[in-house]
Amino acid sequence: MFRKVRRIGKQWAVNAYNACFNRAYGQVLMLHRVGPKEPDRLPCLDELRVDVDRLQRFVDAKRADYDFVTLGEVYERISHPTKRVRPFICFTLDDGYRDNLTEGLPFFEQNAIPFAVFLTTDFINRHPAFNYPFIMERVVRDHDELWVDGQQYICQTIEQKNAVFAQLKDKVLRLPYEGFEQSFETLFANYVSDEKREDLTMDWDEVRQLVASPLCTIGSHTVTHCRLSNVPKEKLAHELGESKRQIEEKLGKSCDYVSYPYGWTTDVNAEVFDAARQAGYKMGLVSHGGGIRKNDADLFGVKRIMFTENE
Ligand SMILES: [Zn+2]
Repeated sequence: MFRKVRRIGKQWAVNAYNACFNRAYGQVLMLHRVGPKEPDRLPCLDELRVDVDRLQRFVDAKRADYDFVTLGEVYERISHPTKRVRPFICFTLDDGYRDNLTEGLPFFEQNAIPFAVFLTTDFINRHPAFNYPFIMERVVRDHDELWVDGQQYICQTIEQKNAVFAQLKDKVLRLPYEGFEQSFETLFANYVSDEKREDLTMDWDEVRQLVASPLCTIGSHTVTHCRLSNVPKEKLAHELGESKRQIEEKLGKSCDYVSYPYGWTTDVNAEVFDAARQAGYKMGLVSHGGGIRKNDADLFGVKRIMFTENE
């Protein structure tokens, strides 16, 4: 009890200190998909999508008080904080969805706002992509009952489907790195067929159309969208280095930034940050933490805020 009071008191003191002396001076926003609602998508994956109208309202509300900046500018501002700059907002989009090109690019161009897209190179290399959350979603959506790994899952209602998706995702995230795809296919052997694979991500030609815009920065989101804290040390360099190498070779531009897949506290650690530094990145971004404050100087644990449809 005493410990709990002490913890709450400490958090209160940190919040009060931040509010008075250490206000956030920047926000790096994390998005995935851009576009209108898809009626048959499960809510758990639909929250990865933000409609252009929502983006426009947000931008209109913030434009007077914020600079919309590139990732390169975020790097500069964190490396060399100065007192008298306006607060900033930076848009980032993870995974490399095709709607980033078809819906996102026209929006960002119309508003003259820079943005960054983090590519998982295996998603871009394959058609149809092995984008397993979407494969799982279709499996859960198309069945009322599943048997996975000897266990029965009832998924008749939307609520049940959402809950089963979360349970199965948790299971999949704990699969070992080595042989991940085979383990995944074994787990869902009775349900996965090629038509379950949705072609949601860009190919390299589409990525080239995106980077033709000077507003777009391309970063890496690893080779296979693995949970980096699960990856053996010797493979970390591959996940981080090979995706960077491929992006640079295919696009003829340097790839200086990485966002870590999932990116929550349990998905990354000091070893991962170190491997990103050694792979030659200038900055790495996580998926949590809120706004960026004066004392956030760690360039390999740069915080982001999940941007959703809800205001
Ligand atoms: Zn991702």
